[in-house]
Amino acid sequence: MMSKSDWINKVETPCYVIDEYRLKKNLEILRSVKERADCKILLAQKAYSAFATYPLIAEYLDGCTASGLYEARLGYEEMAKPFGRENHIFSPAYRDEEFDEIAKICGHISFNNIRQFEKFKDRAGKASCGIRINPEHSTQEHGIYDPCGEFSRLGTTLVNFPDLPDGAEGLHFHTLCEQNADALAETMSEVVKKFGKYLGRIRWLNMGGGHHITRPDYDIELLISTIRNVRDKYNLEVYLEPGEAIALNAGYLVTTVLDTFTNGMDIAITDASAACHMPDVLEMPYRPNIQGSGVKGEKPFTYRLGGNTCLAGDIIGDYSFDSKLNEGDRLVFEDMAIYSMCKNNTFNGMALPSIYILKENGELILVKKFGYSDFKERL
Ligand SMILES: *Cc1c(COP(=O)(O)O)cnc(C)c1O
Repeated sequence: MMSKSDWINKVETPCYVIDEYRLKKNLEILRSVKERADCKILLAQKAYSAFATYPLIAEYLDGCTASGLYEARLGYEEMAKPFGRENHIFSPAYRDEEFDEIAKICGHISFNNIRQFEKFKDRAGKASCGIRINPEHSTQEHGIYDPCGEFSRLGTTLVNFPDLPDGAEGLHFHTLCEQNADALAETMSEVVKKFGKYLGRIRWLNMGGGHHITRPDYDIELLISTIRNVRDKYNLEVYLEPGEAIALNAGYLVTTVLDTFTNGMDIAITDASAACHMPDVLEMPYRPNIQGSGVKGEKPFTYRLGGNTCLAGDIIGDYSFDSKLNEGDRLVFEDMAIYSMCKNNTFNGMALPSIYILKENGELILVKKFGYSDFKERL
């Protein structure tokens, strides 16, 4: 068996390494929430769709949710069908030519508005249909992640919701992003205020994602009491569909330093790119942690780390280290299982990182390796 960090030098870089032990820890927390709150929890595949781990996830959670046909197919093929779990979908607008297939493989379909529901409801077959509402109550500052902002295209606001249409069995809201249970409790009271009169008439309420349940400071008791209150008062099934919380802090991106030099400050080029392999670093933006590093100036040697593309802004950030960085050094970015593998790209002809699973017993399994054809075939 390998010692604790031997794997860092064994892998080919760049690569993502999914930490099975950490993933399991998250799943244990989520399962206990499910049991105590008497609700169902789905994996939002938008954040994490490394299906090699779906058999593990299926042991703990109730199924998957998707944002479109391809994710729905993945959830169906890799979780719903083999493990008898649920398959849900929400899409801002369904494509006519895809809907019949969606209805065959999804047990729950959420529509963005009443128009979409009326257009497709007769083709939904056995699927239980719901409508996404917009409670118009922002609880966070990240504009691009706020479906409650002005002119939002996500969910139906109260003025556009004259009544619960016949045949709609559920309501769905998704308004949070990396938030604690206080934001949910606040949102829930807004939902009750605006849409409360419909809650007694539906069978299920989906509270979306953005619940950072597996973060150490998350208020699990408040989450559970919020869910139980709604459940008991309106006698409905509650779904949560977190993405982040499932694989939070459960993976790494390992990269190799390719070169270092100085231009006003020390600079290091890595074989991982912010633009290609951790796009949220530029999009959100945020600063991922690197094992053993500090912030700029905290440790003796500060470097600006950047990727191996021609984009001037392909900068991961400024980090400090105990010793000088050298060509060939490995750096381990943390919390890289979510919104990374499923969002990466081959911009500038960059290679897609391999995907490994670090098993609980220390064994390292190569799940996927990519090459030139993965770049060429897309074009
Ligand atoms: C993004 C999204 C989720 C998952 O959100 P996380 O922030 O990853 O927990 C769930 N439901 C819907 C509708 C989403 O758009």
